Amino acid sequence: MSNTMSNQCQYIGANGFSMTCNKPAVPGKSYCEDHVHIVYQKGSANRKRHKDIAQAEKVRLVESLMNEAIAQLEEEGFDCYSREVEL
Ligand SMILES: [Zn+2]
Repeated sequence: MSNTMSNQCQYIGANGFSMTCNKPAVPGKSYCEDHVHIVYQKGSANRKRHKDIAQAEKVRLVESLMNEAIAQLEEEGFDCYSREVEL
């Protein structure tokens, strides 16, 4: 299916969710001159979002390490959790 369309723009969503652009594609690309820019911008936006997700996962890891440390302190008799809750 995609082989027969490889010389036409594959951009979907310009005029509705099931319509492709179908203009002649830029040689070596899957999109016409109008849409190759849009698709490239989308790609870089996704990369930035991916970086944000990686950062959020790092924060979550630190949080779980903190909780582990707190649990360990509580086991040793420190009452640090009730003080945290009062915040
Ligand atoms: Zn196009």
